[in-house]
Amino acid sequence: MPSEQAPATQTAIARHTNVLNNILEAVGGTPCVRMNRVPQDHGIKCEVIAKCEFMNPGGSVKDRIGVRMVADAEASGRIKPGDTLIEPSSGNTGIGLSLSAAAKGYKMIVTMPTKMSQEKTIVMEALGTEVIRVPLVAYDHPDSLISVAKRLEAEKGYHLLDQYANPGNPNSHYDGTAEEILAQCDNKIDMIVIGAGTGGTITGIAKKLKERLPNIIVVGVDPVGSILADPSAPAENTPYQVEGIGYDFVPKVCDRQYVDRWVKSRDKESFDLAREIHAKEAMLCGGSSGSAMWGVLEAAKDLEAHQRCVVVFPDNIRNYMTKFPDRNWRIEYGLEEGEITRPTYNQLE
Ligand code: PMP
Repeated sequence: MPSEQAPATQTAIARHTNVLNNILEAVGGTPCVRMNRVPQDHGIKCEVIAKCEFMNPGGSVKDRIGVRMVADAEASGRIKPGDTLIEPSSGNTGIGLSLSAAAKGYKMIVTMPTKMSQEKTIVMEALGTEVIRVPLVAYDHPDSLISVAKRLEAEKGYHLLDQYANPGNPNSHYDGTAEEILAQCDNKIDMIVIGAGTGGTITGIAKKLKERLPNIIVVGVDPVGSILADPSAPAENTPYQVEGIGYDFVPKVCDRQYVDRWVKSRDKESFDLAREIHAKEAMLCGGSSGSAMWGVLEAAKDLEAHQRCVVVFPDNIRNYMTKFPDRNWRIEYGLEEGEITRPTYNQLE
């Protein structure tokens, strides 16, 4: 059996004095860092602490499930090095699994919608992965990322680890991310704010935190256009540019019972806040971190100065170098006024 916690979680402090056996052991053990300017500038009184998942080796929180799902499948005898894995992903799980695949000797194929950044494709290809771009259509459409991955699994005998249903997804956060947050925060946390895609991060972290801190308030962040916050509401077809959060179905790993409150996010506020986090906190996060920050501004405004709110920043600016941090891209997508001074990238659709 693999150990319950990622090695880096068990040795978050000691690891810098040791030589690790491979890069996968450097996954997890990310810092918790106090935010000193952005919350204050928006009138937040409580302390805000960022869990910096953008500092993982592959650049996101999803490195953790890449390590865990492969380790679990190996332990059960389902896969062995040399096999081909396939996974539908908005990119970060693809990168996380590609890290494990490259380090351990698996072939890796990822299906990813055209909406997602070219930077993610380039990173996956650098790791030896084949990326299949699919249109952004409903999850049950035959051309969706999930349908194409399932079809290739059935036709070619590839192994689908399936982040939407694999317990290793939330378990990696229950055993790892949540334990780190509790230790780093000395068990003092009043609220935690987490964006949801598969819902694995929020489910795994919230389950552990609620066991240890029954009074904690768990806030989920979900983009306008997604149904995770309210699956009973009629689906609205509002496209959005933030990557990695929101879905048009509730994945099996998303256990909504642990979420006390949902905040809806929009592109403009998300990208503006992500850029503010770059410029004022020097934390080089991605767009969904801005969405999570929006969740903090909405949900933590009534917390007092002695209270503490943790926010998870899932991925890195590297994934979006030619997108929202680029002024031309923001103008092209109507997020800023001005004149485009050169062509933008990522015009795949
Ligand atoms: N932000 C980004 C950038 C992501 O890639 C993901 C994963 N899809 C999330 C947030 C949400 O994580 P989860 O799938 O665990 O809900």
